[in-house]
Amino acid sequence: GAATLAAGALLLSGCSGSGGGGSTDGGGDGGLVGVAMPTKSSERWIQDGDAVKSELEGQGFTVDLQYAEDDIPTQVSQIENMITKGAEALIIASIDGTTLTSVLQEAADAGIPVIAYDRLIRDTENVDYYASFDNYQVGVQQATSILNGLGLTELDGTPIEGAPAGPFNIELFAGSPDDNNAYFFWNGAIDTLQDYFDDGTLVVKSGQTEFEQAATLRWDGETAQSRMEDILTAYYSDGSQVNAVLSPYDGISRGIISALTDAGYSVGPEWPIISGQDAELDSVKAINRGEQYSTIFKDTRLLAQVAVDMAVALLNGETPEVNNTTDYDNGVKVVPSYLLESAIVVKDNITEVLVDSGYWTEDEING
Ligand code: BGC
Repeated sequence: GAATLAAGALLLSGCSGSGGGGSTDGGGDGGLVGVAMPTKSSERWIQDGDAVKSELEGQGFTVDLQYAEDDIPTQVSQIENMITKGAEALIIASIDGTTLTSVLQEAADAGIPVIAYDRLIRDTENVDYYASFDNYQVGVQQATSILNGLGLTELDGTPIEGAPAGPFNIELFAGSPDDNNAYFFWNGAIDTLQDYFDDGTLVVKSGQTEFEQAATLRWDGETAQSRMEDILTAYYSDGSQVNAVLSPYDGISRGIISALTDAGYSVGPEWPIISGQDAELDSVKAINRGEQYSTIFKDTRLLAQVAVDMAVALLNGETPEVNNTTDYDNGVKVVPSYLLESAIVVKDNITEVLVDSGYWTEDEING
């Protein structure tokens, strides 16, 4: 619903913004735009890169799209190359949001506008706009889906009358500590779960409740898998069960699922409720099989559209449209942002949310 409305508004603004300038001076001049993405190891960034590239090419730009396989020096040198090649604008999804300060000074010296894509770039004044999702709300949705899976609330967060009192054992995973988003997801989730910790409905049996303890460097699934294995060995060898795992990303969820399976859990009434993010195809299939309870759908096509609209507006000397000018302080300044809305996906609404929107086909999901 909301994402669709946002898309409509963007398409409209895209038309009015580039209708005159886009087709004549701004769009069709074949200028170069540099697009830096973190890694191909996660499906979503491939889709983001493809969507940004085709959107820009459709508007007559030439695109230098680069992936850095999660290696920071590689990303820095890719961006340096884009500047050297004469890029007129940069769209960057950073690996570590704090490591681009000097390369972005080079961009600023060359007069190149910079859009932070999905992840905030920190510690520099040389980032002009930020295109992302409402990342705090993503965390709220992840936690709400866990509460829903445990029978405590509806999917919209409304408490269920006569819900079980628990206590339920939950373990918590956070994203990469060098990714600004990870803190927003965590805060949204913990704020949503806090009342249930306070009244004893939810118990973190490992006691690992700090972000630093739960963080997963580079969002790596294997890192998460080994932490989950350690937790199961140290805290659940007494016959107790994990009932839920807060996971911030589908790749981390897959690691958690492997650890549980290896420890002898099998899908059924005792299988824990596990969240996720990105609606990656393998994880949508895992939701269909009952291994993962939920994921969060963030439509990368809409995000690509927002980022490209921002870049094109700047190249045309226009002011990009934003809807948030308060929440994303990068340590030097508050970066004006356009935040899209995300949606909870569970088994029951896969078709409605993912297929009807054209994100995945029925065949892809069932194949
Ligand atoms: C993105 C998430 C993604 C994660 C791991 C975050 O910055 O917002 O969508 O799951 O990175 O790639």
